[in-house]
Amino acid sequence: MTDVTLLRPLDPGSLLSAGRRDRDLQFLAGGGVVDVAVIGGGITGVGVALDAVTRGLSVALLEADDLANGTSRWSSKLVHGGLRYLAKGDPAVAWESAVERAIIAGRMAPHLVHPLAQVVPDFAEDRRSARLALLGQRAGDGLRIAAGTPAGLLPRARHIDADVTRRLVPGIRSTDLRGSSVGWDCQLIDDARLVVAVARTAAAYGARILTRTRVDEIDQTSGEVSAVDTRSGQAFTVRATTVVNATGVWAADLDDSITLHPSLGTHVVVPTALVGAGHGSLTVPVPGTIGRFILSLPQPGGISYVGLTDHEVDPGSYANPSPPTEDVAWILEILSLALERPVGPADALGAFAGVRPLVQADDDADAASADISRRHLVRRTDRMITVTGGKLTTFRRMAADTVDLITEAPCRTRDIALIGAGPQEARPDVPPVLWRRYGNEAPVVWDLGELRQELRQPIAPQGSYYGVEAEFGLAAEAALTVEDLVDRRTRLGLVEGFREPATRALTQLAGDRASARELVE
Ligand SMILES: Cc1cc2nc3c(=O)[nH]c(=O)nc-3n(C[C@H](O)[C@H](O)[C@H](O)COP(=O)(O)OP(=O)(O)OC[C@H]3O[C@@H](n4cnc5c(N)ncnc54)[C@H](O)[C@@H]3O)c2cc1C
Repeated sequence: MTDVTLLRPLDPGSLLSAGRRDRDLQFLAGGGVVDVAVIGGGITGVGVALDAVTRGLSVALLEADDLANGTSRWSSKLVHGGLRYLAKGDPAVAWESAVERAIIAGRMAPHLVHPLAQVVPDFAEDRRSARLALLGQRAGDGLRIAAGTPAGLLPRARHIDADVTRRLVPGIRSTDLRGSSVGWDCQLIDDARLVVAVARTAAAYGARILTRTRVDEIDQTSGEVSAVDTRSGQAFTVRATTVVNATGVWAADLDDSITLHPSLGTHVVVPTALVGAGHGSLTVPVPGTIGRFILSLPQPGGISYVGLTDHEVDPGSYANPSPPTEDVAWILEILSLALERPVGPADALGAFAGVRPLVQADDDADAASADISRRHLVRRTDRMITVTGGKLTTFRRMAADTVDLITEAPCRTRDIALIGAGPQEARPDVPPVLWRRYGNEAPVVWDLGELRQELRQPIAPQGSYYGVEAEFGLAAEAALTVEDLVDRRTRLGLVEGFREPATRALTQLAGDRASARELVE
C-alpha cells in the first residue's frame, strides 16, 4: 500500500451530512456548472464520480433515492475472480474480474474485503462435480497469480479429506462424503457499504453527492439535466459539459437507444448454525448444469445469505423486487442436497432479490439470462454517456472506460485508496466487526458512544450493528431517513424479525439526535 494515496480518517471533505447536501443543492440550483453530472448513486455512478473528480473534473452526482438504493445492495457481496466466466467461455470478463479483484482487495479497499473459502463437497454419487470444480479453482489460481493478487491473500485451491471438510462445514452431510475441493475468492463486508465508501472518497476529492434528487430528463445536445429535489419538491436544472447515465436497470428510461435484459437474482437469509459453514462458503453444484452453484455466504451476527437464482424478469418495480417463493424453496432444496439436516422455507429469516442490468450482445441473442455476458456497455450520444451492465467487481474499470471518453487526463483510481483504508491504531476496546466495516475510522465511530453509552448497545437484539453506526450514518454517510439506516447503512432490514425493533430503535435515536442538535444550535 506504500504507493497508494490514502485519506486521513474522517477527512473533512468526505463527510456527507444533510447540511452538506443543502449547500451542494444550492450551488447547482443556483446555476452552478459542472464538467460532469453523474446520474445514479449505485456502484457504477459513484465509481464514475470518483474517477472523474480524481482526474481534475468538477463533478455532481444526482441519486433519486439513497446511495445503493438499487441493485448495488442486492448482490452476493463477492468481489470475485470471474471463475464462472472462464467456465462459460468468456475469458475476457474472467480476466477483467481477476485484475479488478486484485486492485480492490490489494490497494483500493483492503479493509472492506476478506478471503472466503469456497467448499465444493465431493460426494461418492457425484465425484465428477468436485473434480470439475477443482480444475476450475486451479484455473482461478492461475488467473489470480497472473493478475497480481497480493501474495498470501488467497491460498491455493486443493482437495481436502472428509474430516477436514466436516471441521470447515460442520453441517455437511456425512453420508458418502469423500472430502471437498476448496478454492478461495474475496467477500465484501457489505455491498452498500462499498458504495458509501466510494461516494465519500469521491466527495473528499471534491465531488458533490446529492441523494433524493431525481432526474426526469437529460438534454443530450445541451447537457442540461432536469432534476427535482424530492425532499422539497423543488425542480431545477443542472448544467454539465457531459452527463453520465449510470442508472443501472433504469438506464433505458433516460436513454431510449439501449436495450437491457434485466435478470432477477434471489438470496435467502438463514441462521449460519443451520448451514454450519461459519468461515467458508458451502458451494453446492446445481444438478444438470456446469459452473452453476448455490452458495452459502456467512455474515457477521450468525446469519448467512444463500443464493442465487438468475432468470428473466418483467419490467416493474426494480427498486424493491420481491423474492419469488418458488425461488426461495428451490435455493434451499439445492443447498439441502449437501446438508446433514435439510433446510426449508420455514427456516428462513428473510429473503431478498435484485435485478441485474444485463446488456445483451448480438452473440447472446438467444441466451437465457444466466448465460448472458456480464460485459459492460459504455455508449456516447452527443453530451450523454450511458454506462451499464458489468458487475460490482468491475466498477472501477467501467468508470475508467467511461471517463476516458471525457478527458485525456490519465485514470488515477488504481492508486487511490477508499476512505477507511490504511494503518489502524491499536484500540482493543473497539468491537472487531467495526474494523471490518469502517477500517481505520472504526475508533471514530466507536467514540461517538463515549458520552451516550446507549449508542454502544446493539440496535436490534442479536443484530451485529451498534447505535454508533446509525449516528455515524446520519453525520457522515449521507443517511437522511430511518429507512436509509435500516436498509442500507446497516442491513438489519434483511432479517424480518429485526426490521420492526430496528425501525423503532432508530426512529428514537434519530429523534433524540435532532432534539440534541436543536439545543446546541
Ligand atoms: C442477485 C445479484 C447478485 C449479484 N452478485 C454480484 C456479486 O457477488 N459480485 C459482483 O461483482 N456483482 C454482482 N452482481 C451485479 C452487481 O450487483 C450490479 O452489476 C451492480 O450493482 C449494478 O450497479 P449500478 O450502479 O449499475 O446499478 P444500481 O445499483 O441499480 O444503481 C442505479 C441507481 O440509479 C438510481 N436512479 C435510477 N433512475 C434514476 C433517475 N432518474 N434519477 C436519479 N437516479 C436514478 C437508482 O435509484 C439507483 O440507486 C449481482 C447482481 C444481482 C442482481
